[in-house]
Parts: sequence; C-alpha cells; structure tokens
Amino acid sequence: MLIHSFAKLNLALAIINKRPDNYHNLNTLFERISLGDKIILKTRRDKLIKIHCSAQGVPRDKANLCWQAARLLQDKFGIEKGLDIKIIKRIPVAAGLGGGSSNAASVLLALNKLWKLKLSKSRLAALGVQLGSDVPFFIYNAPFAQGQGRGEKIRPLDKLHKVKLWHILVTPKIHVSTPLVYKEFDAFSGLTKPASNVKIIISKLAKKNPLFKPGLLFNSLEPVTLKLYPEVGRIKAKLKRLGLRNNLMSGSGGAVFAIVASKEEAVRVARRLKKEQATWRAFAVSTI
Ligand code: ATP
Repeated sequence: MLIHSFAKLNLALAIINKRPDNYHNLNTLFERISLGDKIILKTRRDKLIKIHCSAQGVPRDKANLCWQAARLLQDKFGIEKGLDIKIIKRIPVAAGLGGGSSNAASVLLALNKLWKLKLSKSRLAALGVQLGSDVPFFIYNAPFAQGQGRGEKIRPLDKLHKVKLWHILVTPKIHVSTPLVYKEFDAFSGLTKPASNVKIIISKLAKKNPLFKPGLLFNSLEPVTLKLYPEVGRIKAKLKRLGLRNNLMSGSGGAVFAIVASKEEAVRVARRLKKEQATWRAFAVSTI
C-alpha cells in the first residue's frame, strides 16, 4: 500500500499561554503543502514493525512516529500482523514542517482501512495527539485548518477550499529542537497575543487576497528560534533582499516561507537560491 504524507506550514502561530500539563495553548492556521514523503506499507506475518528509511535524522527504531502509530493501533485493537514501513523522505527533518506528525497520521489513516477498524476522524485524532500535537491536523486532511488547544482542536476551513497559495520555502541544513525552542520561549519571552491575526488572515484568504501586508503573518516562536539558530535569520534576510519582506518561520523552525504571486515566481526564486546558497534547500510549493 502506497501512501502520501504531506508537510504543513503555519501561516500564523500565536502562543496563548502555558498549561499546567506543560503544553502551550496555541491559536494557529495550518496549511497543507505539496511537499511530501511517500510511505509504503507491507504486511508481515510476524508481529514486528520494521522501519526502512535512509534519510539522515530519521530514527529507524521505536522512536519513529510511524512505528509508534502502528504499535498504538496494534495494541489497542489486538492486531496480530506486523508491518514493514518504508519511508521515502522528501520533507526536511526537524524543520517545523510537521514531517514526523504527518507520517504518523498517514499510517493511522492507512491502517484504519487496512485493518478495517472503522474509526472516525475524531477518534483517530484523539489517538494521534498522543504521538504529536500536529497529528490531528493531518488526520482531518484539509488544505487549511485552524488549530487550538495544543494544536489538536482542529477546525477544517471549508470556506477556503478554492484557495491555492504558492510559496517559496527555504530550510537550513541544521535540525531545530522543538523542546529547546519552547524551553527558551518560557524562560525569556513575554506572552504575545495577536491571536486575532488568525481571524484576519482567514478572512483575507476567503476574499482571495493572499499577498498580506508585512507584519500580518505572525509566529510567537520566531524571535526565540532566531536567537538560538542565527542561520534562520540569514534566510529571512536573504528573502527580504529578494523583495519577499513578508516571510515567516513555520512551527518552531527553521523552515522559512513567503507567499508569492505565482508558480513562476516560486520556481524562479527557488532556482536562484539553489544556485547561490548550497547549504540551504529551496522549494516551490503550493497549497494541496
Ligand atoms: P516537531 O513536531 O518536533 O515540531 P518538526 O515538524 O519540526 O517536528 P519532524 O520532521 O517531525 O520535525 O522531526 C522531529 C523529530 O522527530 C526528528 O528529529 C526525528 O528524530 C523524529 N522523528 C520521528 N519519526 C519521524 C519521521 N517519521 N519522520 C521524521 N522525523 C521523525
């Protein structure tokens, strides 16, 4: 069974507060994008779950979120079969693009069918959030959705179903540690509150008006990641020099994206960056 597993961007990410369970309440706007991994699932007769992946930084043991997703369903529903899971990675790892969470959601959705579990989306999302805060977004499989709580309260934005954005997306070679970014955020940042930006962005998108004024796109974690990983700031500065002032970091970073006017512009900027900046990866991606 071949499955596709797409990445996400956070068009906005506002941290509202820290909760007693140490997670943070967020208000975020997710976008599913055309950059994705492929996953191939094959049934095994024994009960083992084996991960096959050659990408650097992706664990091949039980730390892999695909392994955890499969084991969760195996245990909960007494499944006696095992799985070979091959991951063909294209989504940069630990970049704020939700690759691991997306892979976990794809495996949950596929096994729900393969093992005829008949679980609803909300049940799968409730199981998925145990694996990662971004898993529920990918379970709902919507191009745009608002996420609240720790990101697990998902409201798919059906009114945006005709909106297709183009982006230039740039990732540094470094891997960003999400726990470290949140730790630093808790230690040094005052809480910022432009949660209302999410509402404004949604209404602008609904009016097909996606080239926002600089400053509207917002991510509470960006200043913290910029301090910890200066390379991310160099990407932002480069995009600014190319006239893309309205760029933003996704998730806890270090991927940085900008909304551009057309596919041609996205491809042109991606080509140029690939030539000029060998240590970065650059992609032309769209909403999917
Ligand atoms: P986070 O959810 O931590 O913000 P991210 O979106 O920035 O993650 P991921 O690509 O999901 O980045 O990688 C985060 C970490 O998850 C990696 O460092 C890796 O060790 C681990 N990981 C586990 N399973 C996977 C997987 N299937 N694909 C990628 N990374 C995985």
